[in-house]
Amino acid sequence: MSTTMTATTTTTTTTTPTPTEPTPTHPGLIRIHRSPLPFASGAYSLVSLPAGSLLTKITTATPSKKAYTSVQTGRDSHIELNSDLVYCNHSCDPTINFDMEKMEIRVVDNRDLKAGDPLTFFYPSTEWEMDQPFECTCGSGEKCKGWIYGAKNLGPEVLGEYWLNRHIGEIVGERDDGEGRV
Ligand SMILES: [Zn+2]
Repeated sequence: MSTTMTATTTTTTTTTPTPTEPTPTHPGLIRIHRSPLPFASGAYSLVSLPAGSLLTKITTATPSKKAYTSVQTGRDSHIELNSDLVYCNHSCDPTINFDMEKMEIRVVDNRDLKAGDPLTFFYPSTEWEMDQPFECTCGSGEKCKGWIYGAKNLGPEVLGEYWLNRHIGEIVGERDDGEGRV
């Protein structure tokens, strides 16, 4: 004799209203992870691309004042991205470069981008002095620079590890010449 347990299917009707997700600005290319926790949201790649290749052009930028969401494009110019690209976080071991002269986002030159990778760039490659300095938690071990203030607080030996925008390269060059380095 055996007793067969009949599994009862309980249909749970969830009436949780679906939060209105903003429309993705780069569908098929970028996925946004939104977190209610501060600084925990981020952008992730949906595509795999070889090192150095173009991920996307920046097409929705508008001039702005320096803010925690802005990106520096020249000595005295900043833009707002007005797109999901604003979720690209900083990393000391980044996956992409923001080229603010060509308005292009490219995969870094030293490694390929894989689908699922976080889309991160080295903020001092665009920012001379961050609007809001922060303590980095990128988790890149020895490569992590700790507090990120912008390129201003980094020496040429550190900056030399990274691709830099022209305006940052120029200001760094002037600063270091000014210090009479040989
Ligand atoms: Zn770091």
